[in-house]
Amino acid sequence: MAQKKQAQRSKTVPSPETGEQAMIAAILEGSPEAVGVAVLRLDCGCRKMAAVNQNGDPASKIIMYRDNAQSVCDQCKDDQGNVQRVIKQFISWKKPEPDHATMMMISTKVLGN
Ligand SMILES: [Zn+2]
Repeated sequence: MAQKKQAQRSKTVPSPETGEQAMIAAILEGSPEAVGVAVLRLDCGCRKMAAVNQNGDPASKIIMYRDNAQSVCDQCKDDQGNVQRVIKQFISWKKPEPDHATMMMISTKVLGN
């Protein structure tokens, strides 16, 4: 927690991406060995995220959240964000990004494609 870098954006209504970016930054800060954060966007608007290390292994527990809400939606509470409801998944890499081969290896391992 030595340095806190938070993007100072305009004070307009936060977009989902703003909340997502803030959450990614917080996860990276809490996971020193992480090289990125796997982000799964669910069809209900909730997100599932987990930090990954350079071996493609989890570097944090899985975090579920919903923008501007105290908790995830009822459906997610029910099915824990079932993978079948994922509409988009990607890895947000920490800077500096790992080399291309490492990124490919981690993507394949974490996202399975
Ligand atoms: Zn949900």
